[in-house]
Amino acid sequence: MSAVMAKSPAGGEDQRFDQYKEQFVLELWQAYPAWASSVGYHKYDSVLVVPNNESRINELTFCGVQMNLLKKIKLEELSDANKIDYYLIENQLKYAEWGINEERAYEWNPSVYNVSESFANMLGNDYEDLNVRLWHFYGRLAAVPDYYAAAEKNIKNPTKEHTALAIEQNTGGISVFTDDIEEALKKSNLGDVEKTAIRERAKKAISAIKEYTSWLEKMPNASSRSFRLGAALYEKKFGFEIQSGYTADQIYKKALVHKEELHEKMYAITKQLWSKYMTGKSMPGDRSVAIKQMIDVLSLNHVQPDSFQAAIEHQLPELVAFIKNKDLIYIDPSKPLVVRKEPGYMAGVAGASINAPGPYDKNGNTYYNVGSLGGWDKDKAESYLREYNHYIMQILNIHEAIPGHYTQLVYANQSPSIIKSILGNNAMIEGWAVYTERMMLESGYDGDHGVNSTEASPEMWLMYYKWNLRSTCNTILDYSVHTKNMSKEDAMNLLVNDAFQQQAEAEGKWKRVSVTQVQLDCYFTGYTEIYDFRQELKNEMGDKFNLKKFHEQFLSYGSAPVKYIKELMKSLPASRKVK
Ligand code: ZN
Ligand code: ZN
Repeated sequence: MSAVMAKSPAGGEDQRFDQYKEQFVLELWQAYPAWASSVGYHKYDSVLVVPNNESRINELTFCGVQMNLLKKIKLEELSDANKIDYYLIENQLKYAEWGINEERAYEWNPSVYNVSESFANMLGNDYEDLNVRLWHFYGRLAAVPDYYAAAEKNIKNPTKEHTALAIEQNTGGISVFTDDIEEALKKSNLGDVEKTAIRERAKKAISAIKEYTSWLEKMPNASSRSFRLGAALYEKKFGFEIQSGYTADQIYKKALVHKEELHEKMYAITKQLWSKYMTGKSMPGDRSVAIKQMIDVLSLNHVQPDSFQAAIEHQLPELVAFIKNKDLIYIDPSKPLVVRKEPGYMAGVAGASINAPGPYDKNGNTYYNVGSLGGWDKDKAESYLREYNHYIMQILNIHEAIPGHYTQLVYANQSPSIIKSILGNNAMIEGWAVYTERMMLESGYDGDHGVNSTEASPEMWLMYYKWNLRSTCNTILDYSVHTKNMSKEDAMNLLVNDAFQQQAEAEGKWKRVSVTQVQLDCYFTGYTEIYDFRQELKNEMGDKFNLKKFHEQFLSYGSAPVKYIKELMKSLPASRKVK
C-alpha cells in the first residue's frame, strides 16, 4: 500500500477532510512513536514514551483534540471513501479513550510492558544507515529504566497468565541488548567512545528488565484478577475491535448453529465415503469418532516435503484461470503475485503468507512467501504435511492468495488511503479470505478436476468443513472463555472433539485465548457478515444479482468494516449495486 493521499477537488468538504487527515496522521505518530516506527515512519525512533500518568493524560488530550476537530467535518457531505475514513478515525479515538478509562489493561496486564521488539526492529530492518539506526537506538535506550519503573507503579492485581507471559517475553527479549546489539556494533563503523556509550545504556536496560521480571516473580498477588475479560468489557471491546453490525452475543449464537450444521454435513459425507476408504471396517456409532477417522484417512493424501513449495506455486495460475472461466471477479493481469521462497528471517515457518509493504514503503512489492520444510525432522514434517494435506493446501492458497488476501489487497490499493492502511478493519480482511474459500467451492473449484471443474469432490468439502470449523470454534472458544467462564477441560473438548484439532494445536489455542481477547472472533464474524449480506442482496434482486459485480463493488471500498460497506452499497442505485 502506498501513503499517497488521494486529493479531492478544491473548496469542498472532502478537501477540508484531506487537510484534517494529513494533520491527524502526523499528530498520531507523535502521540504513538512505537506504532509509527512499526509502520515505517521513523521520525520518532529515538523516543520511548514512559507509560506514566502524564503520558496517559497526553494521550487522552490527543484524542479529545482530534475528536473536536473531526466533529467540525460535515460527514454527510463526504465521498464514500472519506465517510469510511471518518468512521475509522472516530472509532480509533474512542477505542483509545476506552482503553485508558475502562479497559485499563495497563493495570492488569504486565505483558503490555516490553521494549525489546521495537529495539529489535531497529536492528533487523535496513530502512536507513546502520549508524543512524544505532544512534536512534541509543537515544531510545535512555528512557528504559524509567519505563519499567512506571510499569511497576501502574500494575495492580495483575492476572497470573499475563504475569507469566510478561516474564517469559521480557526475559526472551534480553538477547536484543546482548547478542543482537553486539552483532550490529561489529558491523557499524562508529568510534569506540560511541560504542562504549551504547553498551553502557544497553547494560542499564538489561538491569531494568531483570529487575522488572524478578519484581513480577516475587509479587504476592494473592487477589489476582481473572484473565477472563467479563461480558461487559467484552461486548465493548468487540464493538471497537471488530466494528460489526452484529453484537458479540449474536455472533456467538450464529457460531453455535453453524458448528452443528457443519457436523451434520461432515457426517453425511463420512457415511457417503466410508466404503470407498474403509473397506471391511465398520463405521463407529459415535458421529465425531467416525468423522475423525475419515479426516485422518484423507489427510494421508499429501505431497512430499521436497515438493511442498512447487505444489503451492503450481496452483496459483489454475486458480486465476478458474476464476476467469467462472466470471467470479476481475483479476488485474498487470499485478501478478510475486511468489518467493521465505526470506531468511522467516526460516522455519512453513506454509504460506502474504507480505504487503507498509504505508510508507512506496516501492515495496507484495510477496507470497512460501516456506520450505527443509531441515525439518521426519515426524514433524509428516504431521505438518498431514495438516496441510492435498485438500487443505488448496484452501490455504484460496485464503492467502487468490481470490483471498492478495486479491483484496490489489483492490484496496486502487483507492489508496493511509487511514485504511493503518486503521483497516481486520474482520473485513480475514472475513473476505474466509468467505472466498466457501465461494470458490460453491462455484465448483477442485484442483483435481482442472480449471473447468463444475463440482468440488466430497473429500474436498469434508476437509473444507474441517478447516471452517477452526474459525467457527475460535469464536465459540473466545466468547465462552471470556464471558461464560468456560473451563480449560471444556475448551480442550471443544477444540479436540468438536473441531478435530491435534492436542498440541489445542493447547496452543488455550494459551492464546488466556492472554488475548476478541481477536479470535474476526474470522468468523467477517465471514458471516459478508456471506449474510450477499444472500440478502441475492434474495432482494433475484436473477438480477451478479456475483462478479458484487465482489468488485464490495472490494472497491478498501479494508473497511463490513457494516459500512453494506450501508454504502445499499444506498447505491440498483443499477450499480450488483449488475
Ligand atoms: Zn505421509
Ligand atoms: Zn488470513
